[in-house]
Amino acid sequence: MATISADLQAVGQRIAAAARAAGRDPGSVRLLAVSKTFSEAAVRAAAAAGQRAFGENYVQEALAKMAALSDLGLEWHFIGPLQSNKTRAVAEHFDWVHSVDRMKIAERLSAARAGRPPLQVCLQVNTSGEASKGGVQPEEAVELARAVARLPHLRLRGFMTIPEPTRDVTLLRSRFRLLRELRDALNARGLELDTLSMGMSDDLEAAILEGATIVRVGTAIFGARKRSQ
Ligand SMILES: *Cc1c(COP(=O)(O)O)cnc(C)c1O
Repeated sequence: MATISADLQAVGQRIAAAARAAGRDPGSVRLLAVSKTFSEAAVRAAAAAGQRAFGENYVQEALAKMAALSDLGLEWHFIGPLQSNKTRAVAEHFDWVHSVDRMKIAERLSAARAGRPPLQVCLQVNTSGEASKGGVQPEEAVELARAVARLPHLRLRGFMTIPEPTRDVTLLRSRFRLLRELRDALNARGLELDTLSMGMSDDLEAAILEGATIVRVGTAIFGARKRSQ
């Protein structure tokens, strides 16, 4: 736990160095601390070190943490696979959802958010073509984005992706570049998408070089997770 503050600082330095290498303002990349499987105490330590935005994958686990940490006024992002029966809880408790990948889920989130400020959403795109991965296929992302952008209680911010794990930086960058090109294509059609949620502990530099505006980092801040997830 004592290392969380130092690890956060080190990640901040990696982000700033990558942004500078890309000729970008380091302030244009936000750090989302992915706290799934880690304790309330770990989140509290990160918050004490100045971290405000946290990502969670499991609804029940997240709701318990949010309740215990409600005194901190943190920003919560849902980044995991989302089932229909969890959309109400997610719309009621989270500020952002990065993993919307079909219209039915988007419609349910929007309906459950009525009467409150819009839920900030990204569409998850399967940029690597792996059958096991969640996310809309790139060919279908434009149509889905245009439909989601019309829902009254959501604000479509951009796209999220999780490429296949690989040491091939050229391949990785091509996955991230595809996400950027999708966003640019939608913006050319009149949408105003400002978010590319891409890059994790092992690949945030490549993502920032391709335009990431949110990097989602767990291991490099909190340490290794016990279960692989
Ligand atoms: C767990 C997770 C992360 C964080 O991954 P690390 O490799 O631990 O940084 C980022 N994004 C998503 C969607 C995740 O599920």
